[in-house]
Amino acid sequence: LAVTEDCERGRVLMVQGLHCVVVTEEGTTRRCYTRRLLKSLQIDERSVIATGDWVWFRPAPNDEGMIVSVEPRGGMLTRRYRHREQVIAANVDRVLIVGSLLEPVLKPNLIDRYLVTAELGGVRPLICLNKADLIKTRVIMPIMGLYSQLGYDIILASASTGQGLDLLKRMLAGSQTVIVGQSGVGKSSLLNALDPSLHLKVGNISDKSGKGKHTTTTAQLLRLEDGGTVIDTPGIRQFELADIEPEEVHGHFIEFRAFTIHCRFPGCQHLHEEDCAIKTAVAEGLITWGRYESYLRMLNGEERMTGKST
Ligand code: GDP
Ligand code: ZN
Repeated sequence: LAVTEDCERGRVLMVQGLHCVVVTEEGTTRRCYTRRLLKSLQIDERSVIATGDWVWFRPAPNDEGMIVSVEPRGGMLTRRYRHREQVIAANVDRVLIVGSLLEPVLKPNLIDRYLVTAELGGVRPLICLNKADLIKTRVIMPIMGLYSQLGYDIILASASTGQGLDLLKRMLAGSQTVIVGQSGVGKSSLLNALDPSLHLKVGNISDKSGKGKHTTTTAQLLRLEDGGTVIDTPGIRQFELADIEPEEVHGHFIEFRAFTIHCRFPGCQHLHEEDCAIKTAVAEGLITWGRYESYLRMLNGEERMTGKST
């Protein structure tokens, strides 16, 4: 397959099996087929085209088209599943990690997991703690302090009262964002508050997890009114970082990096090894116990995923 004179360039809004919806640079959408491309490449279909990809397609009647080429990707969010890498969002420069302070209660371990995912993909994270209206600010200050000391951008927000939304809006304007976070934390509410023309469905937690409900599960690219795009990932909101190698995990806990070179053993996993600089740093309060615990949990997750029992 080759890109010829009659081909057009566009960006993938969503992927649905063997076709995808592409928006052209002029703003028209087309349903494009990927079958020919997959055949010519003979590689894992799940990684060939992803939401956010820039593609070239040959136009066909009825607003259809055939994908002939995918441009090399910039930053991406991937998930590893059974030793295969699936691209969830392509060409993103920011991962917006949303947590809520209550309903559901904040899970720092999950934030850490998403941070590692962002670091793995080379995409800059932005943490947004939503539902600030439900909790006293001083309760959340230690968490805000921890992540900002680590060098991460963190915003306290409320989709209900509008707190923090101006800042969030400015940070997202003109950037290519992928939004992640547990179901019910208020991702749709935040996006609707930023751009009311999106009309995303807001649900209560039980509605959303309920089976038999017809909801979009594929990642979709949304264009914000003041420039910038957001890739929403409803079906993979609680995705697990499966198949991640232990030596990769610690490399992406950014405050570990300065210490690991002082571990006695080069391949130290910071578990039961002697003279481990990470464990010493935890004991001395240079690394918080919570972050170290997140690290341990991720290693254990790995054990579960690759364990013979499952
Ligand atoms: P999503 O699953 O992450 O997209 O979450 P939704 O946007 O659907 O919101 C889940 C629930 O949380 C809904 O009932 C919202 O009304 C509620 N919610 C969202 N943002 C806030 C907020 O800032 N404060 C409060 N109190 N509730 C919120
Ligand atoms: Zn160590």
